[in-house]
Amino acid sequence: MRKRNALILLAGGKGKRMESDIPKQFMSLGGKPVIWYSLNAAQRSDLIDEIVVVSGPEFFSDIRSLSERNGFDKISHLVEGGAERFVSVINGVNALFESGMGCEAFSGTPEVILIHDAARPFIDDGIIKRCLDAVNEGTGCVAAVPSKDTVKLADENCMVTEEPPRKNVWCMQTPQVFYADILKRACDKAFEDYKKCIGSSDAVPAITDDAQMVRMYEGGSVRLVMGSYDNIKITTPVDLVIAEKILEEKRK
Ligand code: C5P
Repeated sequence: MRKRNALILLAGGKGKRMESDIPKQFMSLGGKPVIWYSLNAAQRSDLIDEIVVVSGPEFFSDIRSLSERNGFDKISHLVEGGAERFVSVINGVNALFESGMGCEAFSGTPEVILIHDAARPFIDDGIIKRCLDAVNEGTGCVAAVPSKDTVKLADENCMVTEEPPRKNVWCMQTPQVFYADILKRACDKAFEDYKKCIGSSDAVPAITDDAQMVRMYEGGSVRLVMGSYDNIKITTPVDLVIAEKILEEKRK
């Protein structure tokens, strides 16, 4: 029997780098909100049983009406996002564990959790399948692509400190996929650290992806899985132009 899989769709960001009043995941792409594309892919996928959407509460009613109009009945929870991406992830994971309810087609806590950025509209079944096939090859796995650019690390004065060989450099994407129990343990520990920083002068942990959080708190190895160069994250205005072009190609 295949594992039961829940997808947490992250739409809780403010999209400051987009220079827009509307967060990037709610901007229009091909006449639909960017978030529609990931919701549609997850709804149509036989590999996803349940969807948790994390967003600002001011978007809950928009998401509800989008899901009613499109029959996105795999959505089981609408959860409020946090101040940092990893806190939004924690909120989504906690919702899955606390209610253990699932959607109409699915009940109970999932075995595998996929975390996906709503700002990446071009997730498809191929990427989802490659990730699910590889989840047990490490502590978890992440969709990624080999870097086309040479990457250098630099200090705060822009002086180069490290030059990793390009053949070893990959750009992280989502989904990032983990067994639910491992992810939950990492989230609980990350939240303990986060709580200590809030209200103190300590900096909040700089966790920008889920594999980093799981490795930091649970150790183990994370497997990289081939994502897709189309699986871009809409971050700055030019990305929306590129996304329109990708969509045009996919519709041909
Ligand atoms: O900010 P970044 O580009 O890394 O955001 C990636 C995804 O995470 C986006 O879909 C964004 O909406 C989501 N996010 C979130 N909560 C935050 C920050 C980002 O759900 N606090």
